[in-house]
Amino acid sequence: MSPRSTVDLHLHSTASDGRLDPPALVRHVTAQGVRLMALTDHDTLDGLEAARSEALACGIQFVPGIELSADWEGRTIHVLGLALDPAAAALRTLVQGQKQLRAERAGRIAERLTEAGLPGAEILARVRGEGPLPTRTHFARALAELGHAPDVGGAFKRWLGRGRPAAISTGWPTLAAVTAVIAAAGGAPAIAHPLRYTLSAGQLRRLCNEFRAAGGRAVEVVTGGQGPADRERAISLAVRCQLAGSVGSDFHDPAVAWNPPGRLAKLPGSVRPVWADPPFPTVAHTYETA
Ligand code: AMP
Ligand code: MN
Ligand code: MN
Ligand code: MN
Repeated sequence: MSPRSTVDLHLHSTASDGRLDPPALVRHVTAQGVRLMALTDHDTLDGLEAARSEALACGIQFVPGIELSADWEGRTIHVLGLALDPAAAALRTLVQGQKQLRAERAGRIAERLTEAGLPGAEILARVRGEGPLPTRTHFARALAELGHAPDVGGAFKRWLGRGRPAAISTGWPTLAAVTAVIAAAGGAPAIAHPLRYTLSAGQLRRLCNEFRAAGGRAVEVVTGGQGPADRERAISLAVRCQLAGSVGSDFHDPAVAWNPPGRLAKLPGSVRPVWADPPFPTVAHTYETA
């Protein structure tokens, strides 16, 4: 077992599909031993201010972040924007567009569910009632609560996942466009959970090389629920594509056991930490460099 990292740069709150509100999330990760965190909600900056002030109160280092949905060759890729300026104009414009796409997509998912014989309007009302930013996670929870799936995972398998009745294409902006906006906001763009896209090794290298050419800086080398083989693949990918490495649990929910914060491995010495080279604004130069 490698030593544990005190860094977690991939976390969700109730501003998107997490279960803890931003201050509760900060207190939770602090209690689990995290000392440098980024809040990275899907396609929104709304939780950042509350999280930042709680991090100050808890005495841990905080950088603003986001997890943006992007299109690469017809697939959805998640790009983390780390240590960015939440006030940057191009970023705010992009985020407005993402929210619009999500609102429209939620309506279309509900229509598909109705066509499949489910109470789409009731499900949509529940999703909207859960918060300002509809995600498929919210649909999965509603489907499970109303008895149309055994649990959240089952709802993705039966209704929401690839090839299922309510799977629809969203028209996200391209990977290159999203990456450029993060970089223009002073942030470090990082490919989230690279092994979760079911891409071949060759496709992954092409993705990462195109990403780097567009201004991408890092790949999430250590992520929640990752096995040792995927860890090794992610390390090789970062080294081969000359990208820095990030560490993030992708934590959403204290009731879900597979990706708790504070339990991630440290980056190996062969990978440059994205937070240290060059250092994130709030991070001391000596902070966990290996
Ligand atoms: P969206 O960005 O609205 O398409 O929703 C993506 C989110 O759904 C991810 O960030 C995960 O939190 C969640 N998700 C995706 N696939 C699954 C799955 N098979 N089981 C549970 N949650 C999932
Ligand atoms: Mn999520
Ligand atoms: Mn993701
Ligand atoms: Mn995530």
